[in-house]
Amino acid sequence: MSANKAPKNHVFYRNQNWHYPKIEKGEGVYLFGEDGKRYLDACSGSAVANIGHGNKEIAEFAKQQIERIAFTHLSRWTVDVIEECASKVSEWAPGDLNHVYFVSGGSEATETAMKMARQYFIERDGKKSSKWKIISKWDSYHGNTLGALSMTGHPGRRKFYDPMLANFPKIPQFYHYRNPWGCKTLEETSIKAAKALEEEILKQGADNIAAFITEPVVGSAIPGVHPDKIYFQMVREICNKYDILLIVDEVMAGFGRTGEKFAVDHFDTVPDIIACAKGMSAGYTPMGATVCNDEIFETIMVKGSGNFVHGHTYASNPLSCGISLKVLEIIERENYLENAKAQGAYFMEKLEELYKYPIIGDVRGKGLMAGLEFVKDQSTKEPFEVSENVKGKFTVNCLAEGIVPYPGGGSADGVRGDDTLLAPPINITREEVDELLVGLEKAIAKTCDDVLGVKA
Ligand code: PMP
Repeated sequence: MSANKAPKNHVFYRNQNWHYPKIEKGEGVYLFGEDGKRYLDACSGSAVANIGHGNKEIAEFAKQQIERIAFTHLSRWTVDVIEECASKVSEWAPGDLNHVYFVSGGSEATETAMKMARQYFIERDGKKSSKWKIISKWDSYHGNTLGALSMTGHPGRRKFYDPMLANFPKIPQFYHYRNPWGCKTLEETSIKAAKALEEEILKQGADNIAAFITEPVVGSAIPGVHPDKIYFQMVREICNKYDILLIVDEVMAGFGRTGEKFAVDHFDTVPDIIACAKGMSAGYTPMGATVCNDEIFETIMVKGSGNFVHGHTYASNPLSCGISLKVLEIIERENYLENAKAQGAYFMEKLEELYKYPIIGDVRGKGLMAGLEFVKDQSTKEPFEVSENVKGKFTVNCLAEGIVPYPGGGSADGVRGDDTLLAPPINITREEVDELLVGLEKAIAKTCDDVLGVKA
């Protein structure tokens, strides 16, 4: 499709110049294209289709649920599946995160977290509370709506909207490969990144800060980047010390993607709020949630006004809640967390071997959430020019091999643009991982030839 001539009566896609064939259907980890080709979905859409495509049990359940009821509004009604889903999600969530506010996606979940944090301090301290800012990070992504974009540290995603956005303070990411402190180990980088939070709080004044938001494993901004455990221990202590809520954005990393229920579980940390979506309903319906702890819920809903001034029409949609409940039951019954752990460990080990290709600068990830960063020069880490569109060329080469990656990344300063996310469904088998690796390696070798003229 050409961007030069506007088509008529069509879908307004995000990007009209793509190379993907139309998809006829999906089954397990595979997508079947109109071109007659089978593609291994190596990114689950965008880390969404976690239990694979075409699940018959979900299809059957959805039919029954739709036949039972179309819709109930959360301000007046509840339905068994809504209650059961909340109970299951809070069972999965760490510590005393017992209160599940349903929404319909990731941006709504992070927006809700912002508003919850703000209302919490108003209810607790009165209208005079000046705690409203959210500290977030460069090289991060928290969603598309204006509030979520205000927390997003990615000028490229903000550039058309800037005057409408709150200028929330941003600190550096725990991005070890290109850390700004010259740290030699992930632990050192993590300590510096945590200290940056304390420095920013002192600069802004703790009285002006409501919350700090972070992804536990970074998704589309710099795929697969994660900290050492010490990061979350320090950040938790800093938030406690300065009376600041810790919000963890698990929109991409949650619900088994990294081999734990939530990615923050790798770091033995209990946040105050978790924002989640994507894998929660594994793509079968739009779904998300903001899960908060007892203190926040009690302050707003028991001791406070008793009314969280927020609500989207489709929040607590019975179909989405029912499907999400079913997805989590399937993950438990089929031991998909164990599978994500085992296949993830194998996958990461094999990905490390890709350093033999000169364009591979960094390989990182947890479980089945991995990232590759492409560079022009491995020894200097020199990136390719963004205009060379290396991740685009790599994507085309992957599609030719029947592999679908997610071309994420693009640095906050716009200087670097070449990362890719690999996040296949968490029920992928060892044979399918091997198939993915074979196609991936061929695509990388072809990309080396395309962009460096090197036969690898
Ligand atoms: N947070 C993170 C970490 C994400 O990865 C995303 C989506 N890629 C979002 C928030 C926004 O979610 P949605 O696209 O469902 O609004």
